[in-house]
Amino acid sequence: MPAADNSPLTFINARVYDGHRLLPGLHSVSLAQGLIGELDAPIAEDARCIDAAGLTLLPGLVTCHLHPDFYKFTLAEGLAGAQLGKELPPGVLMAVGVRTCRVLLESGFTGYVGAACAHDIDAQLKIAIAEGIIDGPRIRACGHHIGTTSDLNDSRKWWQRYTAPGIDLFGDGPQELRKLVREEIRRGVETIKIFASAGHGFPGPTPRNMARDEIAAIVDAAHERGAKVRAHVSDKAMIMECIELGVDIIDHGDEVDDEVIAAMVAAGTYWVPSLIYPKLLLQMGWGEPDGSTQVCYDNVRRMLPAAQRAGVNILVGDDYSGVFRDVMEEDPLDHEVGRYAREFAYYADIDGLTPEEVLAWGTGNPGALLAGKGPRVGVVEAGAVADLILVEGNPLEDLTLLAQPDTHLKAVLRDGRLVIDRLGERGVAGTVAGNVTNAPRQAGANP
Ligand SMILES: [Zn+2]
Repeated sequence: MPAADNSPLTFINARVYDGHRLLPGLHSVSLAQGLIGELDAPIAEDARCIDAAGLTLLPGLVTCHLHPDFYKFTLAEGLAGAQLGKELPPGVLMAVGVRTCRVLLESGFTGYVGAACAHDIDAQLKIAIAEGIIDGPRIRACGHHIGTTSDLNDSRKWWQRYTAPGIDLFGDGPQELRKLVREEIRRGVETIKIFASAGHGFPGPTPRNMARDEIAAIVDAAHERGAKVRAHVSDKAMIMECIELGVDIIDHGDEVDDEVIAAMVAAGTYWVPSLIYPKLLLQMGWGEPDGSTQVCYDNVRRMLPAAQRAGVNILVGDDYSGVFRDVMEEDPLDHEVGRYAREFAYYADIDGLTPEEVLAWGTGNPGALLAGKGPRVGVVEAGAVADLILVEGNPLEDLTLLAQPDTHLKAVLRDGRLVIDRLGERGVAGTVAGNVTNAPRQAGANP
């Protein structure tokens, strides 16, 4: 294989999911210089052909609420009032981030949209990957939680507050918060994370966790520097306020309703429902005593099909961390190979949603968040980046295949380069002409 590494790569006889739908028939897909070429175009003479018969080629998966360093913080520490991001020294948390990158790739995830980390870990992982020090996913970097004095993240053990860095930064008033946002962006952050309201497993004395003029200042400061803002928000009035003020990504959005859906569609807001975390809380009997956790969980499940039909940009992703590792078998939110993609089958199981639609939540929908001003991401189409995976079987018929990478994930490509290659014999498919008889016969197609 090393000798052929520089020649263009062509997959032949591939079933293709393009990031939004399964294309009819089988196709050849050529890659060159890290990008995808025209489907079914003539194959270059020096191309290395891979016979993808029986495999599905699809965009690399993208998870959209990821904390790469949230892994060793325990439930017991959390309940005792410890602050996240201080459980281990910065270098060790960075090592956790490196491990998470490997788990993502081996799970078929070639991209993530960060949802807060300590120590600029997202931004530093991006550098390590760009420098060729490690293989890793395409990252949209997040930074600290930006919060305010005595908010819900600043309410723990006031007599122990100290200035060692963790995941939280606090400021007060538009001026101070604007300064914090600009400093974050200077340190490589592309998405600012705020806790706009309590809820979704984070009880607070009131729904509001940050003043309106503070949210407005954060959003303006971020947008002025080309960054986006994502908000942990559960309460309906706060969701509406966030959308109105220009927050780009709604995390959780537990009290979503038709009015919220209409506002998200009008503003082009992304939504990460992240239902696995409350599902586990309920399973453990740890919902809020007033029953609101169950009410919110049921509400989001009921509203998801309506949001999909209305055209909301829904994304997969959840609070993977391993905090349930010690209290349940196979913690579904642990950072282990195969866990992240379980969400696809979970959401597609909801009445009114199809596998094609839900798979787009982790491919075509988040593409623009990762692409920035560069070529398209999360789709199989000419000119898009070649971040791709090859899966045995048809995941549209059985989405659980995506959660079985050990047996079904045959290849992972980042920028057209095979970073995981389990193709074996397929990698030497032989002459081009003899292998493309199943490709559709249309203008420009191969014989
Ligand atoms: Zn989170």
